[in-house]
Amino acid sequence: MAYADLEKRRKFHRDYYAKNPHYAKNQQEKNRQRNREIITEHCGCKCCKCGSTERLEYDHINPALKKSKQSFLSIGKKDLLNQIDNIQVLCHECHKSRSTAQKTAAWKLFTSLSLEEQEQLLDTESL
Ligand SMILES: [Zn+2]
Repeated sequence: MAYADLEKRRKFHRDYYAKNPHYAKNQQEKNRQRNREIITEHCGCKCCKCGSTERLEYDHINPALKKSKQSFLSIGKKDLLNQIDNIQVLCHECHKSRSTAQKTAAWKLFTSLSLEEQEQLLDTESL
């Protein structure tokens, strides 16, 4: 069923999955497995920083290019392929370390601004 209107399409899927929860769960897991296979084929199956094969996670190389807040595993195949060059595989520890470093860098950048510039960034209407 093709809907030009994205909201109508989402409502159709929400209603369908609400009526067919078993199908929804299976389909969701199939999509997640398909995405895992695509990412593994493209990025390999070990941490690109330390080589570990334990507790692997997916990271946005450039977080500014994030298209949504959704996990790489739950997005559609087309969206995944459009973003595949921005994905890297990291183990949990390397991912945590990188995320912490990004937050620290963001804080340093924020606090280097004048108070007026900080307030402009915090203005919820500009977000
Ligand atoms: Zn690692």
